[in-house]
Amino acid sequence: MTNQYYPETLAVRAGSEATPYGENSEALFLNSSFRFTSAAQAAARFGGTEPGNIYSRFTNPTVTVFQNKLAALEGAEQCVATSSGMSAILACVMALCSAGDHVVASRSIFGTTVQLFSNILKRWGLEVTFVSLTDVNAWQTAVTAKTKLFFVETPSNPLTEVCDIQALADIAHRAGAHLVVDNCFCTPAIQRPLDLGADIIIHSATKYIDGQGRCLGGAVLGRKVLMEPVYGFLRTAGVTMSAFNAWVFLKGLETLHVRMEAHSKRALELATWLEAQPQVARVYYPGLASHPQHALAMKQQLSGGGIVSFEVKTKAGQTEQEAAWALIDATKLISITANLGDAKSTITHPATTTHSRVSAEARAEAGIKDSLVRIAVGLEHVEDLKADLALLK
Ligand SMILES: *Cc1c(COP(=O)(O)O)cnc(C)c1O
Repeated sequence: MTNQYYPETLAVRAGSEATPYGENSEALFLNSSFRFTSAAQAAARFGGTEPGNIYSRFTNPTVTVFQNKLAALEGAEQCVATSSGMSAILACVMALCSAGDHVVASRSIFGTTVQLFSNILKRWGLEVTFVSLTDVNAWQTAVTAKTKLFFVETPSNPLTEVCDIQALADIAHRAGAHLVVDNCFCTPAIQRPLDLGADIIIHSATKYIDGQGRCLGGAVLGRKVLMEPVYGFLRTAGVTMSAFNAWVFLKGLETLHVRMEAHSKRALELATWLEAQPQVARVYYPGLASHPQHALAMKQQLSGGGIVSFEVKTKAGQTEQEAAWALIDATKLISITANLGDAKSTITHPATTTHSRVSAEARAEAGIKDSLVRIAVGLEHVEDLKADLALLK
C-alpha cells in the first residue's frame, strides 16, 4: 500500500493489511516457536522455499508487522528490527564490514556509538576515522581504498548540527561506500534519508518510535541486497527485538506524525522564547533562522524536531557548569534524565552525562561547552515548560 497513501495513513495502516484472525489492532504473538504440519513443511520453511514463521529469534508475526510498517514509513525495501538502537548499529557494521575495513564517522554521534566504534569494533580490526559532520571536504579526505561506510546523525546531539545528506551520499558512492544515517532525532515523520540519497537508516526505537519511554528497540533499514546480510547476522547472533516491544512500538508508530508535529511545534516555541531570554547566551535549534544550517535543515526536514540545546550565562562567581546545574536543579516539572523522545520533557547537562566519557579537549573541539543544557521537548503545554526554567527569568 506504500505509494498509494499519505505517510500519516501508512503509519496507522501499513504492515497489518492481512492479519491472520482479522484482528483490527495488531495482536501480540508471545511464543517462541511455530508448529509445522509435516516434516516436509519444516524442511521447506528451514530451506527458505516456503515462506512462514519458524522461531521467534528471526521470525515472529508481531515483529514482522512492525518491520513492514517502519519500512513503509522510511520508503525502504526491508527493515530488520533489533533489540536496541545499539544492536542495530552493531548488526549493520558486523554484517557489512570485515576486519581491515574502514568507516568514516561523524564526530558528533551518540556517545555509546563512539565507544562501540573506538573501543570494541577496533579490537576486531575495524578502522574508524572521526570527522566534522558539516565539513564536506573532510569526508572526502578521510576516504581510503578500504572505506565501506559513512556514519552520521543529523541533526546531531546535542548541538543539532545538520549535514547535507545528498552531498555525503555522493562522496560515499564515488568511493564505493554506503551512507548510514541514524534517523533517531527526526524519525520518518520529519526526514526520510533514503529519499535524499542515503543507503541505510538506523533507528533507536526506544526514543520517538516508542514515544512514551517504555521499551528498548532498534531497526536497520535499506535495500534488500544490503539488509539480507544484516538479517543473517541477526538470525545467527540473536540481537532480536522482543515481540512484546514490537507490539508497543506498533502502537507508537500509529501516533508518530501527530506526536512529532506537536514536539516540533513546542520546541520551536521554546527555542524562540529562549533566544529572547537575557540569561541565555546561545540557542541551538534547526528550526530557528539563527541556526547555521537552517536553510539546509528546512530542505531536508519537515520541521525542526523536538531537541533544543542552549548555553546559560554565568552569574558572578559561577563556573559554566554551576550555572547549567543551577538551572537544571531549579526545575520542578521537567525530568532530569538523558533520555529523549518521551511525552515527558527531559533536561540534561551533556558535558557531565551523555558526553562525560568524551575528553574535555574533544568536547571543546566539538563546541560542547560546560554551560550547555539540552531539553528534549515533550508534550506538556509550552507555557509550563517556560515557567519551569525559572532561573532564566
Ligand atoms: C539512544 C540512541 C541510540 C542508542 O539506542 P538504544 O536504543 O539506547 O540502544 C543510538 N543513536 C541515537 C541518536 C540515540 O539517541
